[in-house]
This record gives sequence, structure tokens and C-alpha cells, in this order.
Amino acid sequence: MPDAVTDRLEALRGRMKQAGADLLALGPGNHMHWLLGFHPHADERPCLLLVTAGGEAFLMPALNAEGSREHTAITFHQWGDADGPDEALTAALADVGGANAKMVVLDETMRADFALLLMDRLPGASHQFTDATLGALRMCKDNVEFTFLKENALINDRAMQAAFATAKPGVSELEVAAAVRDHFKSEGAAPEFSIVGGGPNGAFPHHQTGDRKLQKGDAVVIDIGGRKDGYPSDMTRMAVIGVPPEGYEEVHAIVDSAVKAALAACKPGVKAYEVDAAARRVITEAGYGEYFVHRTGHGLGIDIHEPPYISASSETVLENGMVFSIEPGIYLPGRFGIRLEEIVILRDHGPEIFSELPRTTHVVEV
Ligand code: ZN
Ligand code: ZN
Repeated sequence: MPDAVTDRLEALRGRMKQAGADLLALGPGNHMHWLLGFHPHADERPCLLLVTAGGEAFLMPALNAEGSREHTAITFHQWGDADGPDEALTAALADVGGANAKMVVLDETMRADFALLLMDRLPGASHQFTDATLGALRMCKDNVEFTFLKENALINDRAMQAAFATAKPGVSELEVAAAVRDHFKSEGAAPEFSIVGGGPNGAFPHHQTGDRKLQKGDAVVIDIGGRKDGYPSDMTRMAVIGVPPEGYEEVHAIVDSAVKAALAACKPGVKAYEVDAAARRVITEAGYGEYFVHRTGHGLGIDIHEPPYISASSETVLENGMVFSIEPGIYLPGRFGIRLEEIVILRDHGPEIFSELPRTTHVVEV
């Protein structure tokens, strides 16, 4: 087994012990991918990785066994379409010593029918989701993950510059998004999303990029992400086409101050809601509180949105190694929106920003 997998399994068993869990079950998805570096093809055929203090084993659809064997030496309990998974599940549970499990950690992202197939076998068992175990481990990134996230962030910086170079009067949002996608591909990254919101469209935080053409006087929200080596990027910057709309500079300065206040509040031991409050306070005191309509940030890892969430209700205690966004915004209906988004990794001394691109507005000369 690769060292990274052995280390993660050991850390996971430590968390399971603390959480009083005697069995953990993952479906083929990103939790499994983080743990093993791969996951079998995900379809309707029950496929589970079972982990206990004493061992680990797969319930594995025979159809996917060969392809999965290239990636792992973990025991497979295979089942075929003609027989169904019941016997193989019995054998897998016996193999790991999980047949009498009382507290099961369930992958909250797996199919409900997989979860119920397992829980129906364990009468009287209760469950918890992964937040105290595998989820807690995933929040803190190791150096390998940091390297991938940093590489992706710098690709994103260059993709953003490609967007800036394309944004001109008469060019549509979709054309700017296409330039972003082309840039990601040119660096071997898969485009994940590109939100380009010009003028009044910028006031919709998750605007559906469309065929509206940019025009002089537009503020443009550009929020883009790509993926390489299994890890994504995510960043938002602002451009204006020629002259900014009325009130733009004032609002931009407020949003930037909110970013700075959130960054200043980020320290190990602080609760996530305190960071959200720091950003929100700046915007509220400037009179725009009702126009900051979303949480301040989200974790970034294999998933583009994952814990820790930087929201008004999140009690998560921030720790060294956590990676998350700081992305306050002000959205003025019918006028424009401004969001500025940084991805940071928390270090002992505070947050370190991944991007090397300043948050100043890019002004397109017209
Ligand atoms: Zn984000
Ligand atoms: Zn974003």
C-alpha cells in the first residue's frame, strides 16, 4: 500500500476511535478518492469500502473489480449481477470484524440505497456522518495537496489574465468564458466553471454566463476555476470596461476592506463564524449589509465546496493547514455586483494567499 494511503488510514483510525465509531463505510466518491487516491466507477451497483480498527475491505461489483485492482491491494468481496451483493456484504463485514458494529460512520455523499443496504444489516447500530472523522482530516491539507492547490491557483491567475485580455465592448460573457476555458486547457487543466457577469448581471452572485455583450461602463465579475492533478482552483476578480459605473470605486474599496478584515481574523483557534463576522461587519457598517447575501467562504480541496464553511453559523475551529475561500461581495440589483475572492491556507502565523494577482480592478481601455 502506498505510504500516503497507510498514513491516512492510520489517521482515520485515530479519529474513529476518538469519535467512538467502530465501522466506517465509504461509497465511490471524493472521500474515498482522498483516502485511497482513486475510487472505483460509481454506478447503481453497491460498492463500499469498509474500515474498522482491525482492517479494511471492499464490497466490490465484479464488473469493476479488474479496473480497481490496478489501484489498490485491499481485499475485494466481489458480487455479480446474477447474485446480488448480499453474500459478499456478509463476507466483507466478517472480514473486517464489523458485523456487530454499533456506531457507523457513513459517507454522507454516498447513495441512500448503499447506506440502507449496510444499516439494515446492523440492527441497533447508530450512525454519524464523516465530519468528526474523515471530513476533519480532509480539512487540513498536507504538503502534497498544498503543492497541487498552489499550482492550480497560479494557472488560475493566468486564466484570469486571459479573461482580462478578451473582455472588450461587444464581446459576450460566453466569449470571455471560452477564453478562460481555452487557457485552462492550454496548461493541462480541466475547466470547472466560469462565471462572467457583466453590468447588471454581476448583481446575481451565481449568474448563468450568457450571450449579453459587454459594453462601456460595465463592471464585470469574473469567477473561474479549473482542475489539474485532482485539485481545483477558484478565484474572483473584477474588471471594468472603460469607465466604472457610478459608485463602483466606493463599493470596491468596501469589499476589499471586508476581505482584509476577514484575513486579519483568520488565526488557528478562531471559529469560522468569527471570520464571517469580520467581513460582514465591514460591509454592514458601510451600509451595504443587506447586499452581502451569501456566506464569506468555503473550504477547497478535492471538492470545490467542502468544509470548513466560513459562515455565520459555523462553529468549526480553524486549524493550521486548512484551505478555504474569503469571498465577500456586494450585489446592487440592476446596477452591478462586486465580489473579490482569495483562496488561503491557514498557517500558524495567519493566512497565506495562493494567488499572486492583486485584487485591484482591471480596467479595459476603450
Ligand atoms: Zn469560491
Ligand atoms: Zn469562486
